[in-house]
Amino acid sequence: MDYEQMSKNERMAKLKNLVEKQNFFFHSGQTRNISFRLEQLKLLKSKIKAYEDKINQALRKDLNKSLLEVYATEIAMVYGEINHTVKNLRSWAKPSRVKTPLSHFGSTGYIYPEPYGLALIISPWNYPFQLVICPLAGAIAAGNCAIIKPSELCPNITGVIAELIQECFPEEYIAVVEGGIETAKALLAEKFDYIFYTGSPAVGKIVMEAAAQNLTPLTLELGGKSPCIVHNDADLSLAAKRIVWGKCINAGQTCVAPDYLLVHKNIKEKFLENIKNAIQESYGKDVTNNEDFPVIINDRHFQRLVAYLENGQVLTGGRYDEKRRFIEPTVIDQVNWNCPIMQDEIFGPLLPVMEYEDLSEVFKMVNDRPKPLALYFFSNNKNLQNKVINNISYGGGCINDTIFHLVSPYLPFGGVGNSGIGSYHGKSSFDTFSHKKSVLHQTTLFDLPARYPNFKYALKVFRMLFH
Ligand code: NAD
Repeated sequence: MDYEQMSKNERMAKLKNLVEKQNFFFHSGQTRNISFRLEQLKLLKSKIKAYEDKINQALRKDLNKSLLEVYATEIAMVYGEINHTVKNLRSWAKPSRVKTPLSHFGSTGYIYPEPYGLALIISPWNYPFQLVICPLAGAIAAGNCAIIKPSELCPNITGVIAELIQECFPEEYIAVVEGGIETAKALLAEKFDYIFYTGSPAVGKIVMEAAAQNLTPLTLELGGKSPCIVHNDADLSLAAKRIVWGKCINAGQTCVAPDYLLVHKNIKEKFLENIKNAIQESYGKDVTNNEDFPVIINDRHFQRLVAYLENGQVLTGGRYDEKRRFIEPTVIDQVNWNCPIMQDEIFGPLLPVMEYEDLSEVFKMVNDRPKPLALYFFSNNKNLQNKVINNISYGGGCINDTIFHLVSPYLPFGGVGNSGIGSYHGKSSFDTFSHKKSVLHQTTLFDLPARYPNFKYALKVFRMLFH
């Protein structure tokens, strides 16, 4: 059912009804039971297993993702998250006892993680499967109901997700709402208990404004320009291999793709030669013949990227095929911050290069701009690694690698400033979708008199305890 095709009134009425049903189901209390949550997670995983072929076919149609790419970046990620959550959920969900200060003598403090209630999950098109299912696993683990709004730009996989979820769960528990911007807006007009949004910073602001109307807590997983810095002591061929991999996965349509290169002046020429070799080794001498190389999502994004080829000087690559929206991996030299390619997130297989002499220039360049979602630094010098980590604010990243930080369930993943608010993956997903309720259990065996106004030494005791 495509909500975008409905009249405004019909869409609003249907969504209101769905939200009411989910509220009713949530208040039945079923989702509070940890065994129930574990069963749902296992059911979800088994259904995904049964749907693997359909997922592959849909992602081939939407983005020309190969079997390897789908498994590595969409399905494995989801299995990893669900397995890790199933293994640890009982311990995460336990109330945790905390210390009490002397002033609270006789009492104990506990933190109870509790589900928020109804979660709204809005997701983008670039990793359209895992960016729906990973947050959903967190929402289920924490005991929430959820409405998912996948992207309208990848209709094949969105249809498969809708079918899969419908087969798995009743809509009063988990539902997929298919539609575009009007549908997302109609959903945002409803009252949710948590909003989890993945997408562009521009739309993130609209989502946050809508959330503010109901004071709904939210996570914003956004994007931006993620720098990749290669210092003069780096292992050049390994760095090139890892950077090319990170840039070319999903044809660069990755929120944490290395957006642009900052290379130390002394090694620039040699390093760019390594980049050229790494492209050929990974994708063949002529990438245009590689049938597994992903394509650009739609014509608008394709034209936007092709226009960037006018910037600077193309060192390697530069060919494209409009019919299949294919662009080959392309390295562009001689760019500066005024070039259009350096203004916005590229989100395609184009890699502009700039050089630096001293790392202080890098700190200035990056810190003068919106805080990146990711940053990658290639160097074997521990002091310099720490200097980069301590002098630039960014969501997260790697030393001597790209993108891999995102795959560990032990590392919370998220942005900072313009690249996002909050984080998820592993326990962080459970925490994101849980309210932490703090409760003090007071003793009734005795009653310390110090707080009461009729106690002669009250002020003295307070002064003694807090000074
Ligand atoms: P987008 O912001 O255009 O769309 C994302 C979702 O928001 C879609 O479901 C869409 O229907 C909805 N939407 C669009 N306009 C809306 C509006 N006016 N009001 C309400 N909802 C609206 O993003 P996109 O083009 O799908 O994705 C690309 C962006 O997402 C990039 O910036 C990328 O870096 C970012 N991203 C971030 C992460 C992350 O984990 N941080 C992951 C993937 C993508």
